[in-house]
This record gives sequence, structure tokens and C-alpha cells, in this order.
Amino acid sequence: MGEFELIRRFFASAACAAGGEGIALGIGDDCALLQLPAGEQLAISTDTLVAGVHFPDDADPFLLGQRALAVSASDLAAMGAKPIAFTLALTLPDARADWLEGFARGLCAMASDCGIGLVGGDTTRGPLSLTLTVFGRVPAGQALTRAGARPGDLLCVGGSLGDGGGALPLVLGERQERGPEVDYLLQRYWAPQPQLALGQALRGRATAALDISDGLLADCGHIAAASGVALLVETTKLPLSSALESLFSREFALNCALSGGDDYRLAFTLPASELAAIRADWPEVAVIGRVAAGQGVHLLDDAGAILQPPALGYQHFGSQGD
Ligand code: ADP
Ligand code: MG
Repeated sequence: MGEFELIRRFFASAACAAGGEGIALGIGDDCALLQLPAGEQLAISTDTLVAGVHFPDDADPFLLGQRALAVSASDLAAMGAKPIAFTLALTLPDARADWLEGFARGLCAMASDCGIGLVGGDTTRGPLSLTLTVFGRVPAGQALTRAGARPGDLLCVGGSLGDGGGALPLVLGERQERGPEVDYLLQRYWAPQPQLALGQALRGRATAALDISDGLLADCGHIAAASGVALLVETTKLPLSSALESLFSREFALNCALSGGDDYRLAFTLPASELAAIRADWPEVAVIGRVAAGQGVHLLDDAGAILQPPALGYQHFGSQGD
């Protein structure tokens, strides 16, 4: 199978490449064309997933397609952007039809959930890696950035934390039990749901936001630095799923919530007056702390005293990374 046949068979003719709102021209020409409504800005983000680094070499292609798009679309959610389109740069060791078919199905399943269309890409031979670029739109000046948190704001998250970190030993085959809790954690890892509607609802309300990909403490550090404030996190308020709590010790579960990656929940700062309106539609939103004058991220124990933070999230080329 040649490059062009591969593109045509698995991508150009895929359900998620059929076009959609904001897509003036899709796959097949030298560029795709996107149409933005007047007064809107284009939000763009790229993520690369490398076999052996971000996922096991033998990962199920359907799950991988789902996950690759979910982690990219989560960045649009974090900016309060509405998805339009994405591109896929795919490097493959060989062109196996069954693998490509499963991968494209997974990609299209997540594309349908997110309301986003495949508009182009590149296909090359080499060690398996995926680079996705997502494009979204947001009313000019209303994107949620990491800067803007103010002392007195609440620190909130969009749902349970630590599921991604808890899933890791299961994904890597280090633990092999089965059951509904295991299924839940694996689902959270392989098909995280980008919080797109929540992100859009936070426009004009939240003062800062991001999606948690590297772990709560590390990612909150980005908000603290960009906003020039301190974030105080109350460990007793961290929302943990019952699956995480039932499968692991409390210490491990808390560590996953604080420092495990791959949660793809939104973390945001919010004036207290906005909380009720957000909670009405997203009851799972949890207040986990507050913004104060100062700098850095600080953990508070039950009594409100500052704890020494454990290791921060994963960093490539960092002290704990490769
Ligand atoms: P060019 O040589 O002009 O860069 P290519 O031959 O690389 O174009 O690709 C042909 C068309 O197929 C382009 O529209 C490109 O965006 C699209 N394409 C290539 N690879 C992929 C892919 N993996 N997924 C989706 N579209 C792809
Ligand atoms: Mg090309």
C-alpha cells in the first residue's frame, strides 16, 4: 500500500474527514482552509505522542486514536475554545491495514465526541509517533489563559483527580486485576473526555485556566507563575474517584491526584460569586483551594498548615524524566 492509497483509504475517506462548521476546505489540497466568524480568534495547539515514551508500543490502535485526539482537544477546552479542525502527522514503521483501520476508528470516535474534523496531515515511515494539531475558535479577547488569577479567587477542578496516574500501573501491565474499578480507570486513561463545554462556560467567569496533563501541582505552578500569585491547595478537598480509592492506598491515591499526569481535567481560578452558576451545570466541579498573594503552589493539611510538597509532575529532560 502506497502513501497516497493509505491516506485516501484510512484518512481522507474517514467519517471525521467529512468537513463541518468552519471547515472551508479539507484533505486533498496543499493546505486546508478554515473560516472563522468575524470577531473570533484561532486557538492552536500541537501535541506529539511517541511509542515507548507516551504509550506502550503494542497499544491498541483504536484506544490510541481516541486518546491522541482527546489529549490535544483538552488544550482547546483549557482555553475556552470551540473545536473546529485538526491535522495528523503520522509516522509509522509499516502500513498495516488492521492497525490503521482501528486507529482511524478511534480517532473518528473521539472526533465525533468533540465536534472536530480531520483536515490534513502528513504520513511518513519511521518509529511510531503521532503529532496532532488542533484548531478552535474563541471570541476575540475571551480565551482563558494561565495569567489572571487574583488573590481571593477560588481554585477549582473539573472533576476527580488522580485517575490517569492510578491507571498507569494497569496500562503498563504492572497490575493485572479486573473489575468495574479497573475498567473505569482504564477508560479514563484511554478515553479522557476533554472538558470542552465547561471550558466554554468558564469564558468571562474564570480568571485563569489550564488542563491538568502533568499533575495538579506542576500545572498549578504554571498558573501561579503566569499570574504572579500563590495557589493554596487543601489536600482534604481533592476529589478522588471511588475506583481510585478502592484500588489503592490513600497515600498512593493522593500522590496520583497531586503529581500523577494524564488527568485532563480543567483546573481554574474563579471569583467566589461565580461558583453557584458553574456548579448548577457541573456539580462535579470541586473547590480545592484558593489564590493568595505570593508565589508558588503550597499544600495545606487538615489544619490549614503548609506541608512540604512532594515531587512535582513529569517533565521530559527534567530531573525525573528521561
Ligand atoms: P503535500 O505533498 O502537498 O504536503 P501530501 O502528499 O503530504 O501533500 O498529502 C496529501 C494530502 O493528504 C494533503 O491534503 C494532506 O494534508 C493530507 N494528508 C497526508 N497525510 C495525512 C494524514 N495522516 N491524515 C490526514 N490527512 C493527511
Ligand atoms: Mg506533505
